Amino acid sequence: MKKTMLRIVVGLLVPWACQNHILGATEPAGTGGRRPNIIYIMTDDHAAHAIGAYGSTVNQTPHLDRLAREGMRFDRCYAVNSICTPSRATILTGKYSHKNGVPVFNRFDGGQPHVAKYLQAAGYHTALIGKWHLGSDPTGFDHWEILPGQGRYENPVLYDRDGAKVYPGYATDVITDLGLAFLSNRPPDKPFFLMLHHKAPHREWTPDEKHRLMFANRRIPEPPTLDDDYATRTDAIREQQQSVFRDMTRRDLKLKPPADLKGQALQAWFQHKPTEVEIPDANGGKRLLTGRELDRWKYQRYMQDYLACIQSVDDNVGRLLDWLDTRRLRNNTLVIYTSDQGFFLGDHGMYDKRFFYEESARMPFLVRWPGVVQSGGVTDALAINADFAPTFLTVAGLRVPADMQGVSLEPLLRGQRPGDWRRSFYYRYYHDPGHHNTRAHYGIRTDTHKLIYFWKKDQWECFDLVQDPHELRNIYNDPGAQPVVADLKRELNRLRGALEDNDAFADALPPDGVDGPPRRWKPGFGPN
Ligand code: CA
Repeated sequence: MKKTMLRIVVGLLVPWACQNHILGATEPAGTGGRRPNIIYIMTDDHAAHAIGAYGSTVNQTPHLDRLAREGMRFDRCYAVNSICTPSRATILTGKYSHKNGVPVFNRFDGGQPHVAKYLQAAGYHTALIGKWHLGSDPTGFDHWEILPGQGRYENPVLYDRDGAKVYPGYATDVITDLGLAFLSNRPPDKPFFLMLHHKAPHREWTPDEKHRLMFANRRIPEPPTLDDDYATRTDAIREQQQSVFRDMTRRDLKLKPPADLKGQALQAWFQHKPTEVEIPDANGGKRLLTGRELDRWKYQRYMQDYLACIQSVDDNVGRLLDWLDTRRLRNNTLVIYTSDQGFFLGDHGMYDKRFFYEESARMPFLVRWPGVVQSGGVTDALAINADFAPTFLTVAGLRVPADMQGVSLEPLLRGQRPGDWRRSFYYRYYHDPGHHNTRAHYGIRTDTHKLIYFWKKDQWECFDLVQDPHELRNIYNDPGAQPVVADLKRELNRLRGALEDNDAFADALPPDGVDGPPRRWKPGFGPN
């Protein structure tokens, strides 16, 4: 057993040693000759278009904007399967869902190689704190402390190898505190790799007390596609159950239940999707909202809470950046901010994610790396979440394993866009019907177009992203678009071949996945 372990460790170290030898033992520029630390901050469901630096007109995010100003902003970074658990597995492994075994809410097989294991074996001190949501206990981390399943916003429980603990306070503050505690207690002679994963701003969008009313008296501008009528589109978008107007529950809208309701009756009350809501009026009376007026109110109510959750994230990113500055860790530490996918903020009338439309699949991706990344840099190169693991490896001076399907973004960070940089990427979503009756689909995005195939319905959508950036007009059947559609189909097939995508794998999946806390979690282990 010991011999096997030794072989594995040596096997992992050799490529790193060779790489350093080949490079003449040089370290990446801008790191003072030391391997850089990596802090990877990831929120859950934070759409890029709710960040000031990405042009948000609905909220201000001064600390995230500072990260963008001092670092680089990726404008076209995408999840290849836009949903929590699969995105997290892709980020760790550098592989698509059909290769890492997590297409829906499966348990992640922690025995497989992934980026934290590679970094740990190469001498990095590794940690994961916050939301994990991969159903198994983390591997490859010297220190981990995670929320069970989704976790909760107020007084969250987190658990580690030894047990669970309730932390008084708000999840975003608590997770940042635990990240800072990890950094304070790290071994001084090792570079570190910290994955700091927030719960916010995931549904049901519970803000902290400080920001709860921040947007209460403001009218949030409505997105241009809030009233999308889905003309020219497939049945998939008409069948989804993630409509702001139709599917928001009383729980989502934070309505107050009657005092005498309890148990199942209370839960049923919360799950109800109201078609009329009574709100206080300006004169101390009450007003009944219905129809279009209620639709508009639901959108406002949703966004007020969603944006308030983000303000706490922004505060805490600022707290972490300040901490690094005062400890003189700024110059040798990459700081990344991203989210596991995007989110519909009323775009196409929806909330949630899953679909391969821009607002849902696009991830914010901000990287600060002083001395290497040019301040205020922006790139529109196509990047995907499978690129993150390869990026961390090359930044640490390691070689990217041949079975990782992403590529390192390091050349882009250094301001060098390779001539053969990808001009398209592949996407596949499996969770059908999932929680929102979303139809499974796959497709590709190029710099200018998107092609989507809802394979169980045999229906297609195609968009010209230059002429139609909001993806409102499906040109799949337009006679004039047929040459483009044919080119896109060829490229789709090429990518599916190159990535060894496997329809048999998709067809063998149960109709729904497994969700919930990890197997090791027991009710006696603490509250979920
Ligand atoms: Ca998510």
